[in-house]
Amino acid sequence: MSRRGRGKPLRRREPGKFVPLVGRVEIGPDGYEYEVRPVAAARAVKVYRCPGCDHHIQPGTPHVVVWPNDLPQAVEERRHWHTPCWTNRATRGPTRKWS
Ligand SMILES: [Zn+2]
Repeated sequence: MSRRGRGKPLRRREPGKFVPLVGRVEIGPDGYEYEVRPVAAARAVKVYRCPGCDHHIQPGTPHVVVWPNDLPQAVEERRHWHTPCWTNRATRGPTRKWS
């Protein structure tokens, strides 16, 4: 369906900072930097709660997973967002405390 293809991963690594994950870095609703990685529909196999709208992300829904840029190993800090919710995070804001 999508003709966007994969494209080249955007690399915005800071000098001297090793980020082992391929993705992009964006500023989250709390002002910190977050690694953002898209999750394809085929890989979305669980139900997640989106912090942006407080609704569930159903399996099979393409979305994004984000986590603190300085804590790439912090699996428990990862958050799954609907893509539009993440895109509009600045105007919507999280419905609950981030942590
Ligand atoms: Zn959402």
